[in-house]
This record gives sequence, C-alpha cells and structure tokens, in this order.
Amino acid sequence: MNDPDDNGRSARLAANLARVEERIAGACAAAGRDRAEVTLIVVTKTHPVDDVRRLAALGVRQVAENRDQDAAAKAEQTADLPLTWHFVGQLQTNKARSVVRYADHVHSVDRLRLVSALSAAATARGREVGCLVQVALDAESGTQGDRGGVAPDVVPALADAVAAAPGLRLEGVMTVAPLTGAYAGQPRAAFDRLLEIASSLRESHPAATMVSAGMSQDLEEAVAAGATHVRVGTAVLGVRPGLR
Ligand SMILES: *Cc1c(COP(=O)(O)O)cnc(C)c1O
Repeated sequence: MNDPDDNGRSARLAANLARVEERIAGACAAAGRDRAEVTLIVVTKTHPVDDVRRLAALGVRQVAENRDQDAAAKAEQTADLPLTWHFVGQLQTNKARSVVRYADHVHSVDRLRLVSALSAAATARGREVGCLVQVALDAESGTQGDRGGVAPDVVPALADAVAAAPGLRLEGVMTVAPLTGAYAGQPRAAFDRLLEIASSLRESHPAATMVSAGMSQDLEEAVAAGATHVRVGTAVLGVRPGLR
C-alpha cells in the first residue's frame, strides 16, 4: 500500500513476514520437511482491519482471530479479499451462528455443546465448517483446560462427535503450549505429544490431517514436531496493545 497514511506499516509488515518465512523455512529444512507441508496463519487479533488489508496485499491468505466480535467485523470489512478465516479462541455456544458466517476453520472445539451449536449453525447456513479439536495438554484426565481445550483422553469422543455432526468436517487437532503442568516450558515435548494424539486420531479419521501448533515464540519446535499449521501474531504484527 502506498497510501500516505501507511507510515511505513506495510514495509514493516513485509519485513516481519519475511523473517517469519525464513524461520519456517529454516525449521522445515532442519527437520527434513518440505516447506509446503507447513501453512502460516497470521493471527491479526487486536490489530486494525487496515493491517489485514496490508497483509492481504503482501500475499497473506490465511488469517485468524480469537474473538467473534472482532473477527466478524474484520471479515465483513474485507469481504472483497481472498482471505480464509480461522477462529482460534474460546468460543461461547451463542456465538456459533456468527462464527459460521465467516470462519472456514474453527481450531478451538472443546465440548459437545459447542459441536451441537456449530453443527446447527452450519447446517442452517448450508455450509460445511472445518473443525479441530483443541487439546489442553495440562488438563486433568476427563476435563477441560482453563484456557480451552480438552484433556487428551477426551479427544476421541469429541472427534467422533464432530465427524458425525452434519455441517462439520473433522480436520485435526490444535494446541497451545501449556504454561503449567508437566509440559510448562517444554514446547517441543508438548508438540511431540500433540503429534502422537494426532496420529492415533488418524487411525479412525484418516482425513483429520491438520495439526495446528506453534506461535511466535515456539514455531520452530512445532515445525520440528510435525505441525502442519503455525499460528503467528506478534512476530508479524508486533506486540499487541493490551493483554488478550
Ligand atoms: C494470539 C494467539 C496466537 C498468536 O500468538 P503470538 O504469540 O502473538 O504469535 C496463536 N494462537 C492462539 C490460539 C492465539 O490466541
């Protein structure tokens, strides 16, 4: 964008994107993986819609948000752009109808009630929405994590429910490296565990090939472990104003 209001923002985003691209390519090379096996999703939360436009102009096609209100507004304001929206935040069932309007992928499916709500909403809209089961590697057996996700032993039942739900397509699993528990400070071990979970899921659901893991701080560990999608915010857009 060469408009006078840009103040070098596009150039900054381009430089950040290039650095992230180098990191992904380096991690792929180190792991003996093809660069094409890893998709970069840029997490635009808290940043203005103008940044989404700038990113699109720089070739970004996969974008993510974690709050429905912000995501819905940005998706609507960029409906002219060839973007694919990923929803990655904790999701209330009463937001399901809104989310299925713009999101092609929901990474944060973590309970049966949400599966039902998304299924009803997608069906009503005549859409098929891709779903990933969010895994909380620090959650007690049989429970949900504090920041969303389910304990690993809940994944099969939830995945079966997604696969059986009209309007939903089971695509894989997602995690955020835990801040507490046995995996705190051990992103590589956490992502290795996620890959084990993903691999046993594929025995019953061969099409569930997406493994969404890795953010600005730990994308190398995620790529090394075998992630197919990394979700990067800060390293592309800079530090977010306020905590989210
Ligand atoms: C914000 C967020 C990211 C991106 O985090 P950064 O550290 O800014 O790269 C990735 N995944 C989820 C679920 C997020 O909420």
